[in-house]
Amino acid sequence: MLFQAIMKRIFSTFIAVAMVVSLCFATDKASMSFIVSIDTIGKYLNVELYCAPEETAAFTDAVELHMPVWAPGYYLIVDFPKYLADFSASSEDGVALGWTKKNKNAWIIDAAGKQSVKVSYRIYCNARSVAECRVESNAAFIAPNGVFMYVEGQQNHPVDVTINMPDGWKNCSSGMKKTSSTSSATFHADNFDTLFDSPILCGNHLVDRFELEGHEYEFALESPIGYEQSPFREDFKKMVSATTKLMGHVPYDNYCLIHLGKGPGGLEHLNSQACYTEGTFMFENNDEYINYLDFATHEYFHLYNVKHIRPIELGPFDYDREVFTPLLWVSEGFTCYYSAQILRRAGLISAEKQLGMYSEYFLNTESSEGHNHMSLRQSSYDIWLNFFNKNDNRHDVTISYYDKGPVLGLIFDIELNRVSNCARSLDDLMRLLYNRYDQQLGRGFTEDEFWQATLEIATTGDNSQEAASAVKNLRRLVDTTDAIDYDKILNAAGLQLDHTTWQLAKKDKCTKQQSKLREKIIWE
Ligand SMILES: [Zn+2]
Repeated sequence: MLFQAIMKRIFSTFIAVAMVVSLCFATDKASMSFIVSIDTIGKYLNVELYCAPEETAAFTDAVELHMPVWAPGYYLIVDFPKYLADFSASSEDGVALGWTKKNKNAWIIDAAGKQSVKVSYRIYCNARSVAECRVESNAAFIAPNGVFMYVEGQQNHPVDVTINMPDGWKNCSSGMKKTSSTSSATFHADNFDTLFDSPILCGNHLVDRFELEGHEYEFALESPIGYEQSPFREDFKKMVSATTKLMGHVPYDNYCLIHLGKGPGGLEHLNSQACYTEGTFMFENNDEYINYLDFATHEYFHLYNVKHIRPIELGPFDYDREVFTPLLWVSEGFTCYYSAQILRRAGLISAEKQLGMYSEYFLNTESSEGHNHMSLRQSSYDIWLNFFNKNDNRHDVTISYYDKGPVLGLIFDIELNRVSNCARSLDDLMRLLYNRYDQQLGRGFTEDEFWQATLEIATTGDNSQEAASAVKNLRRLVDTTDAIDYDKILNAAGLQLDHTTWQLAKKDKCTKQQSKLREKIIWE
């Protein structure tokens, strides 16, 4: 006891000194839970946050709460606190606590000596965006980055969220683990990164649950018109199986597909996706349906490529400011390349359709002047400027990694096959990045590590010089605006590109070697 008392005094002195020196607050480890009620008339989420110290009877200092200003995958400063109103704080005995704002997304509450803190605020929800919240008479889409706050420095802490639903609402869907009653749903997340990566849809949407290869799936469909007659569920299963075969591992227990009504955009999450759709499963024609499948596949493949196979800057996240990485052309561009690959491997599209999808990327890249002014690497860094760039000259001076990225995906795949005599492909690079950095080391990779891994895959036996030269050239194509010798690269795979229409097609006559490589690209 004496030892503890002395240590306590020393520790208190240390804290006092540390506070004077750093002018920051002690961060008592705190339990965190939220209760959210839905106001369908005013379009608000009414949020109550409960916070209590875990290792002491009372808080030793102020509590600093932060709300994110952006959502991973949506590379734009949204400034979520702009939707917040009526912030207040009180102690366990209901007495109001003083608070002040430290900056646009941080609140400091006078909690010293208090056993617990309750914080209340309202979030206005009237945005049709996958990163922002929407409340309507029969549905609420909860984009968590704009709703929940964490104690500064404690993003790793577990958290519980209870959603109280309006009368008559039946369903509450999310990738998070859930316990439900008739009027509420409680979710548990192991940390705030998981909570922020788990959107929630509440209301009377259609819920379709099924199991596939030992994993549970939930479709939450806000606009299910024509769903029963649609092949979507069976096609989604084929797509998942093809992806599992490609990656060799499934990193989740359950997956939740949240498809919202008519609107723009989709966002990937760790074990879910949230997408606005055409608002119906009755598509005008098969091409429209394939576009929809491609979209769902893109967001699904992201759970590997960006959530697990990720640049080191992309997680754990700094939610207070932009996170810059030079590698989004891998995260987004290769995902565009692979969504068509996966649909082809799953037998859902023809080789011609696959090449047609790639042709769009060539056309978009080459038909605007921007590719002479911005490198692929630069487009990744500058996404925070260009995510919703509406400047008149944007096509003259910028490029999109959604277009040139998949072109490089195809070039990577061809080149890795070519230098290894078809022993290796882009698949091997993706698996190496997944297994080494995510599964074994539990982290993302640096830019140098990415290129080192590329060289490692390209090098087989005695081809080290050719492999080094190929990888050096690939890096030049990514880092500069140099013209790409498409004809030379595509020829190795028995493919040709019309430089007027930018249509990609099979060559009529091929050598055995060209046919062998083309088979690895279009699976005929
Ligand atoms: Zn994407």
